[in-house]
Amino acid sequence: MAKRDYYDILGVQRNANADEIKKAYRKMAIKYHPDKNPGDKQAEESFKEAAEAYEVLSNSDKKKRYDQYGHAANAGSAAGGYGGGSMNMDDIFSQFGDIFGGGGGSPFDSFFGGGGGQSRGGRRVSRGSNLRIKVKLTLEEIAKGTEKKIKVNKQVVCSTCDGTGAKDKSSFHTCQTCGGAGSVRRVTNTILGQMQTTSTCPTCNGEGTQITSKCNTCHGEGLTRGEETITINIPAGVSEGMQLSMSGKGNAAPRGGVAGDLIILIEEIPHESLKREGNNIIYDLHISFIDAALGAGVEVPTIDGKAKIKIEPGTQGGKILRLKSKGVPEVNSYHRGDQLVYVNIWTPKALNKDERDLLEKLQNSANFKPQPGKNEKSFFDRMKEYFE
Ligand SMILES: [Zn+2]
Ligand SMILES: [Zn+2]
Repeated sequence: MAKRDYYDILGVQRNANADEIKKAYRKMAIKYHPDKNPGDKQAEESFKEAAEAYEVLSNSDKKKRYDQYGHAANAGSAAGGYGGGSMNMDDIFSQFGDIFGGGGGSPFDSFFGGGGGQSRGGRRVSRGSNLRIKVKLTLEEIAKGTEKKIKVNKQVVCSTCDGTGAKDKSSFHTCQTCGGAGSVRRVTNTILGQMQTTSTCPTCNGEGTQITSKCNTCHGEGLTRGEETITINIPAGVSEGMQLSMSGKGNAAPRGGVAGDLIILIEEIPHESLKREGNNIIYDLHISFIDAALGAGVEVPTIDGKAKIKIEPGTQGGKILRLKSKGVPEVNSYHRGDQLVYVNIWTPKALNKDERDLLEKLQNSANFKPQPGKNEKSFFDRMKEYFE
């Protein structure tokens, strides 16, 4: 099957810079995330496809080869190719540390850390699977950070057999093939002399123990379903699609193994009047044209409660007022965004006779004629100010 162009997949231009590529991929990853599209094969394919495209385009070496040879660069020899290929889900999630922020000591580092076969003294230690949950947060919770106690349904160590999977002590014993080592050594004679190879014990699958009679509660699995209430500390400044990882809080592993991680996917609950834009918060304020002309004090909602702001006499529609440090903090930083109040002038849609008479008297007054001067900021200037 012909592969789609990596730039097309991410929807970026061929001259896109690293930042644009990352942004585009982040969008795709959130859109097609398996947690958002449970059971949707198409979304899963798109998710994998985007990850593969990003894997190549985010690496300057691979990107260079891909730009030069296209998908053909990956055909035939792996050594000469750009190394793009289908990725499994764990690879994709481990890539997220890079995409959704990170850096030293951040809570996002340890995504899916470790994985599979860790070994302890030669024996293979089983590892529980990772557990994924979603946490919905209000804008206020995101701004201040919060602690959530969440009841999680997961695999726990069987209390009947204490995770051994054995019916009782006598049915659980050291593997006779490997003597508990979990691995077997084999010596073979070759023309270079004796060669020693070590491989996983076929009798106990590397666990070092054997069970003759299984536990009735867990049928030898060493695990049962259970609930645990987990306290999750969510730092201020997280955003939609970010994932936090708590190591060892996922599904338990049998026979003294290491529990998997709990992966927490952040979802934002939209606020009714405040809109988040990065670390800034935007609020649409509507004032009457009379207040705009005479000046007024108005109250606006912020994530810290109501704030009083002053409308100067002669305020024009479209003015943006900045409430310093009333936005959302950056994760693991003291920097906080601002709240931007966009001033809309409200024009009455219906007038009674008295009102109409009054306004008609003012209609031809010279001061009511628009007279934008040099000091009036253009829409373009205001937008530029906002994006700075
Ligand atoms: Zn064995
Ligand atoms: Zn059991």
